[in-house]
Amino acid sequence: MTTPPGFSVLTQGKVNPVLDTRRNIMCGALAFGLVGCVAPPPAPRPQTAITALEPPEFVTWRQAFIPRATAQGISPEIADRALGMVQFLPDVIRLDRRQVEFTRSTEDYLAITASAPRITEGQQQLRRHQQILAAIEAKYQVDRHIIVAIWGIESRYGSRMGDFPVLSALATLAFDGRRRVFFEKQLIAALRIVQRGDIAPERMTGSWAGAMGHTQFIPTSFNQFAVDFDGDGRRDIWSSDPGDALASAASYLRRNGWRQSAIWGQEVLGAGDLTGTRDLTEWRAQGVTDTTGRPVSGSGPAQIIPTSGPRFLVRHNFNVLKTYNNATRYAIGVGHLADRLRGDPGLVTAFAPDANGLTLADRKRLQTLLARRGFDIGEADGVIGAKTTAAIEAFQRRMGLTIDGQATRALLQRLGG
Ligand code: CA
Repeated sequence: MTTPPGFSVLTQGKVNPVLDTRRNIMCGALAFGLVGCVAPPPAPRPQTAITALEPPEFVTWRQAFIPRATAQGISPEIADRALGMVQFLPDVIRLDRRQVEFTRSTEDYLAITASAPRITEGQQQLRRHQQILAAIEAKYQVDRHIIVAIWGIESRYGSRMGDFPVLSALATLAFDGRRRVFFEKQLIAALRIVQRGDIAPERMTGSWAGAMGHTQFIPTSFNQFAVDFDGDGRRDIWSSDPGDALASAASYLRRNGWRQSAIWGQEVLGAGDLTGTRDLTEWRAQGVTDTTGRPVSGSGPAQIIPTSGPRFLVRHNFNVLKTYNNATRYAIGVGHLADRLRGDPGLVTAFAPDANGLTLADRKRLQTLLARRGFDIGEADGVIGAKTTAAIEAFQRRMGLTIDGQATRALLQRLGG
């Protein structure tokens, strides 16, 4: 792929890595209970004509896999043709080995997930696809804002679906063997998709780990949940018309128990020991309110997830979002972006200053001051990413300071902030 998937900049630290079976990316729980998924850094465009680098063992493996596929119901013709064209992709192995892990704060995660451009674009998509979203909402009873938020986070509204040839990527990973059983299963599932005629193998593209289309389904999820919403006989989640893909995401949530009349969760205010899972009536009795001061409504179990700033009271639908990607942070991100797409003004509670003692406002100010001096910081969003770090280093170099790329109070003062 030429650009990382939309969510890849949201990568998190890891503790106790677990495999996210839907998307096959590594996830890890953070110390305070939030979980993030690790995606690779930007990858160069996959090479497609690298047979010189193809290990002979891969050719042998590929031939041996054909009868294994036919034994699992893939026709000999499809197995021959589709597996005959797969290639060994060294880039995929490199990316699999380079599961770069770094920590981003929840504040950064949400700032990136629900960035101003992502909200604006999502609202445009809601208008553009109004009719199809209304039809999907009616059929699957899943809030269109949630569907569009998933779309925005998974593939930046279809603009970053990944352009690795999925059969080759999965074959490479299955051959490699680090997670052989998982990827063999995905490869067979991918062959089933081809056999059913949903997509030509040449058009079956996705992430290096085989997450495909607007909604980044792995093949097994595709076979389980994807739908042909426009009725043309194919479940096409890659099409420029996102109808099938958006309906497939709705189908996924519906079948995992989404309740249309309920919210995913909300930011809440309150005092005292507000952690864990209790009934909403109990939270209400504890004085937990929404951000306008009204007591929280409803009944049933709900969990308060603390951060360094806002507290999120999450309900049943939050757990449904986690079936899509088993990461607390991801589910909060989807819910929060959906709220913003709906027009909610944003979080009320400020996050605590970062490890360097700077608040979001401080970091935005620092970025603005760097930009004024001609350094490229990207967008002044308060997220100290690669561009801002490079800009800080360039500034430090120019000023003869110690070059550490750190956004600190001293640097802010040096910049005149
Ligand atoms: Ca279709």
